[in-house]
Amino acid sequence: MTEIEQVTVAGGGVLGSQIAYQCAFKGKNVTVYDIGDDAVTAAKKRIKELRAAYKRDMKATDEQFDAGLERISFATDLGEAVRNADLVIEAIPEKPSIKHGFYRSLAKAAPEKTIFASNSSTYVPSTFAEDTGRPDKFLNMHFANQIWRMNTAEIMGTDQTDPSVYDQIVSFARQIGMVPIQLHKEQPGYVLNTLLMPLMGAAGMLWAHDVADPYTIDKTWMIATGAPKGPFGFYDMVGLRTAYNILCQRQNDNPQARPLLDKLKAMIDQGKLGEETGQGFYHYPDPDYRDAEFLKS
Ligand code: NAD
Repeated sequence: MTEIEQVTVAGGGVLGSQIAYQCAFKGKNVTVYDIGDDAVTAAKKRIKELRAAYKRDMKATDEQFDAGLERISFATDLGEAVRNADLVIEAIPEKPSIKHGFYRSLAKAAPEKTIFASNSSTYVPSTFAEDTGRPDKFLNMHFANQIWRMNTAEIMGTDQTDPSVYDQIVSFARQIGMVPIQLHKEQPGYVLNTLLMPLMGAAGMLWAHDVADPYTIDKTWMIATGAPKGPFGFYDMVGLRTAYNILCQRQNDNPQARPLLDKLKAMIDQGKLGEETGQGFYHYPDPDYRDAEFLKS
């Protein structure tokens, strides 16, 4: 089996920056591709800001963290970004039109050997397989936010994915410190979001229909299940933009969901995107739900 050493991550946003750094931290050579200089500057900033988390959660030294940074380069030209790639991990916005267009360009730009993996949270790989021009070398590899500690990689192919490519990605996932979760068939939402999204949707409906406020809902979940955070903590962790996009797809035809979508949109317009911007339903880095008093009051 050929080793995957050269990785290109397309999209240096919330997840792309984490995937890029985790691969580099584990010794892979990484190129981050994004659409322009401003996006690359933002990606560099996101990656550098991971230092505190790797020191805290991974017990990394500054030298180890810096060694990871040195293995990452950046590009805004797709051809240049994928010229030597063994694997392209796509983490661009969860909008089908953007992803279709990206895979059509990538199909032409990437060498024949390159495997493509999508980190899409909601679209099964057969949605984009034909655009890739290489459906046998295409599958989904889905990471969870804060990938260095929430280290699942859900791996899901199509009927056309070559089993040896699937196995190569399972092995790669282990090499970069993930626990590979092997799905035997296509499942929208994989294992994680099949469980998590209905919970977040239901919590959002309780809030949007004035049944209870977010803190009360989170407290209920945390006290009754012993979970370390509640559904609104998950909104902030996932990021409100991504949660909104997913809920729009799932709930668009449901008029009962309109107040929830409107309330989330209002928060997004105010820049309350969750942990990423320091404010969502909670304030960061010290959200109230981590305070020992939170569950008592
Ligand atoms: P994001 O909006 O934070 O980042 C998207 C990045 O893609 C931005 O840097 C943007 O400039 C870039 N981009 C836009 N168009 C592009 C193009 N044509 N080519 C290259 N780059 C482009 O989004 P995100 O939250 O990181 O989500 C990215 C993907 O990861 C989505 O498919 C999402 O479903 C998935 N995902 C997100 C989470 C999460 O918790 N946020 C978790 C798992 C999976």
